Amino acid sequence: MNAPEVNPHSGALEADGLVVEFTTRSGDIARALDGVDVIVRPGEVLALVGESGSGKTTLARTMLGLERPTAGEVRFDGTPLNYSISGLRALRRRVQMVLQDASSSLNPRHTVYDSVAEGLRLHGLDTSDPQGRTEAEQVAAALASAGLRPPESLFLRYPYELSGGQRQRVLIAGALALQPELLIADEPVSSLDASIRGEILALLLKLRDQMGLGVLVVTHDLGLAWNIADRIAVMYLGRVVESGPTEEVLARPKHPYTQALLSVVPEIDELAPVVLTGEIPDPTRIPGGCRFHPRCPALQGGFAEAVGVATMCTTVDLPLIPPDVDGHHVACHLPQRVATEDLADV
Ligand code: SF4
Repeated sequence: MNAPEVNPHSGALEADGLVVEFTTRSGDIARALDGVDVIVRPGEVLALVGESGSGKTTLARTMLGLERPTAGEVRFDGTPLNYSISGLRALRRRVQMVLQDASSSLNPRHTVYDSVAEGLRLHGLDTSDPQGRTEAEQVAAALASAGLRPPESLFLRYPYELSGGQRQRVLIAGALALQPELLIADEPVSSLDASIRGEILALLLKLRDQMGLGVLVVTHDLGLAWNIADRIAVMYLGRVVESGPTEEVLARPKHPYTQALLSVVPEIDELAPVVLTGEIPDPTRIPGGCRFHPRCPALQGGFAEAVGVATMCTTVDLPLIPPDVDGHHVACHLPQRVATEDLADV
């Protein structure tokens, strides 16, 4: 008997050709996302990485329905997002966001119990859930899943009485209370001490493994992505410029931007630090050709010229990277001329 076919879209959150534009105060059109395809599947962690201004937070917000794309679409479970109030409410039950700074995200006047119960009440689940549990039982289960035990001992505590790690766990518990299928975590540990970061990352991995949660992590920290993500998408100026399985991309990066970001990760000391010149350009003025060319060390250092791609770098745009879950893709002209093993020396 043939094995039943697995639907690759089942439970997956997908961005398909997303473009997000907005008009600046001076009337210019800024393109915050410029054709992005990614997919997050149940039971896996996808990290979106890049500097501030790369578009990663806009992508996460758009995938959560908080921004409406100018073109392209977001699909969950194979169905395009429904932007009506009821459609977005239904999405929120299944896809929850974990905010980055628990200190400012938790209401200081709300007890832990009320903070975690808030989402349940908002969704009309205050009396019972599909399994017949009371609100208190759901809150206790969410706190326990977030590693806060015994949960009842925290019910009446206020945020100021908790450590930074406990506050972050309360935020995660608030997201878990609705029993979502997917979490979107924006810089989930950036406001925490190094000693607590590992605990919160381990918790996200436990939720992936034990509950089959899909997790989209937004981070500027490649070291963090290496520790937690199954797959990675490196973003620059509104596009994914390199993506693939984390180990493959970070052990053998092909894009000069990924190489530069990796070279300044403190835990990796075998790479000479590459300091990128300038800032990410204004999204109202995306450079022609390869959008990274004004800052590219391979172009500035003459390597692109030496292998004959320098003119293409400044004049020929690169194809969009597909949301392929297995392949290692890169948006750069160099790999057409240079063997993969030699790209690490660029
Ligand atoms: Fe650098 Fe050229 Fe590759 Fe762009 S295409 S990243 S400018 S080498």
